[in-house]
Amino acid sequence: MSIDNYFTSGGALSDNLPRFRQRNAQRDAAQFIFESMKEYQPAVLEAPTGSGKTFAYLIPAFELGRRTIISTKTKQLMSQIAGKDISTVQQIFGQEKYTAVLKGRRNYFCHLRFFRFVYPNQGRFEKVAHWYETVVYEEIIDIPIGLFSQHEIEHITTDSWQCTGSKCEFYDICSFYRAKEHANSADIVITNHYLLMSDFALKSENEHASIFDFAEHIIMDEAHSIPDIFPRFAGTELSLKSFLKLMNENRHVFDPREIEIAAGMLSGLLESINERRYTSEIKTDILPYIEFVNRAIGEKNLEEMTNSHKRLLVNAESALGETEGVRFTDQDRGDILLNYIPLNAADKLREGLKNACLSPVFVSATLSGKGNFDYFLSETGFETDEVKKLSLDPVFDMVRQGRLLVSDSDDSIYEELAEKAKGTVLIICNSVGRMTKLTKLLKKLRPGKVYSQRDIDIKDTEGLTDTIFVGCAVFREGMDFAHTGISYVVLDKLPFEYPDDLVLKEHAENIKKNGQEPFMDYFLPRAVIYYRQAVGRLLRHEDDKGVWIILDKRLDTKNYGKYFSSVLKDVPRIDSIDEATAFLEEKHA
Ligand code: SF4
Repeated sequence: MSIDNYFTSGGALSDNLPRFRQRNAQRDAAQFIFESMKEYQPAVLEAPTGSGKTFAYLIPAFELGRRTIISTKTKQLMSQIAGKDISTVQQIFGQEKYTAVLKGRRNYFCHLRFFRFVYPNQGRFEKVAHWYETVVYEEIIDIPIGLFSQHEIEHITTDSWQCTGSKCEFYDICSFYRAKEHANSADIVITNHYLLMSDFALKSENEHASIFDFAEHIIMDEAHSIPDIFPRFAGTELSLKSFLKLMNENRHVFDPREIEIAAGMLSGLLESINERRYTSEIKTDILPYIEFVNRAIGEKNLEEMTNSHKRLLVNAESALGETEGVRFTDQDRGDILLNYIPLNAADKLREGLKNACLSPVFVSATLSGKGNFDYFLSETGFETDEVKKLSLDPVFDMVRQGRLLVSDSDDSIYEELAEKAKGTVLIICNSVGRMTKLTKLLKKLRPGKVYSQRDIDIKDTEGLTDTIFVGCAVFREGMDFAHTGISYVVLDKLPFEYPDDLVLKEHAENIKKNGQEPFMDYFLPRAVIYYRQAVGRLLRHEDDKGVWIILDKRLDTKNYGKYFSSVLKDVPRIDSIDEATAFLEEKHA
């Protein structure tokens, strides 16, 4: 059947999707993906919010019937695809194609850790022990969302450094490895970017190393996040607390004094390292801790610790090594993390992809920076002429549905908004400091109606009306307020990142070395992508109406402002909050 036919009124999708609406953007996206996959052409698709892109790639994948991995960024999106969306497609194509889901290790029950740490201490882990009785006969035991504390989860799941793989006595019944086996015999696999990127990182070093078996196609939704996620997997992240955890979990072989000293040394580091630093600047502070715990663990020569200890040492070597890349140290929730990010991550990503599939498809609502895909392609290791590209126009009627107010950044506009705005306001800041200050100001002006991203979880926002949400990147990219309905999206500033950030600084230096211009070729396209994500929070349906307020005149005054203003180029401009209120009230007339 022609791909177009699935997407017409009266077509297969409309028969199986109760709220189906025929959308040209969806049909064009599906046609583009189908043709690219059929010809094994790498492809990049920018499909705007509301275009229905999930079905636009699921239908071609099922129609072609080749082994395809589909990856997305968040757990919520993954379960939406694996649940509702796949079953709709299966109603069309039947159950013939075998589909499977593979999540990260922390989502699966680890028998080894359960029987080592929980089973002998059932008094302390009563909830886990009772739950285990209810799932004991399941072939694959998933960790239920929201049931257990972080402490409990850590005792019944593994990180890769803790897992002994095929040497483990429970390997044959291991939930993660069973899920992996299912995924590797499936036609269609649903996964997330974190697991997929760690697979690419493995394959970039060794084409035979893998989590996923080779696929004909890999479709990456929310692909804009890949240039930021992959480098973390291509490098190393070493948690200094892991050494202490290993000692605590095997405390019977340690002198209590050793654990006390290690804990004291880690606390000292936590006190002294309270901001991101180059690891080279604080290496001499960190080394005594690493040397002490290594000696203490190594001396015990305990089989249960050997594998994990070896892996931690490999990570330590990389995090403290000299190979080209950025090495920095962060403090994170009571832990010190030593990070290494290689500078040639794009080449590694390309190599990993080459060893993972015949042709990738990158899909997102926000992939183009300066009106083209150059930034995204260079960060993923592709040349522009190797890839098929399509950018679809917005699906919403921007003239009818939106208004744009561009103004100076001035707190008085927030005072006016707090007083006059009807409907929900989403404010996006560039820094946590600014978010905190603004939240404080607005809470005074509209008591009980203002939440920062720290105060509230997205699932608790449903039903809240006339509310002001203030956030940073989390609100800009990761949250869907469709159920809440947003009337105003306010950008406190154009979303440029701080060039002083150590990682960005090194990346910019590297770009310069490669003959490019850091601002134009890196910071600007990234900011435009963030801008598109932020403005994309406003309209989610054809009958929505909303106002964008951009508190940054650089949009009009700077030469580069054109890349931002082109995003909302058709939207009529207004000059005041009063005009905005009047426009929004029209719908109630
Ligand atoms: S193989 Fe790894 S994840 Fe599976 S039970 Fe053993 S240690 Fe746990």
